[in-house]
Amino acid sequence: MAKKKRYRGHFCKVCRKILANEKFSGKGRTAHICKKCTRKLKARKSEEIAIACIYSVLSHCNLSRDDRKMLENYTHSRRERVRSEALTVLATFTRPTPSEEDEDFPDAD
Ligand SMILES: [Zn+2]
Repeated sequence: MAKKKRYRGHFCKVCRKILANEKFSGKGRTAHICKKCTRKLKARKSEEIAIACIYSVLSHCNLSRDDRKMLENYTHSRRERVRSEALTVLATFTRPTPSEEDEDFPDAD
């Protein structure tokens, strides 16, 4: 026989709170994650996908026009982490290689 629950609602393992049943979707109830946390986790997942995309560009030796466009799109991302990673990778490709850089080269400006 199942043990009777001592509380109403449902426990969310992400925010560690007991919340009303309405705060859970059918799926979330079994996963023990409330609707709010499901959304949060999804957002984090898309952020991870974006960052994986950004870093995949680094595996190529040069930046294709499409990759650059993709990185530039990510620099406008609402997520700060995605933005900064995109800028970092973009900078890796825009920066001249140290061996070709002449420190005494007169500034064109
Ligand atoms: Zn939660």
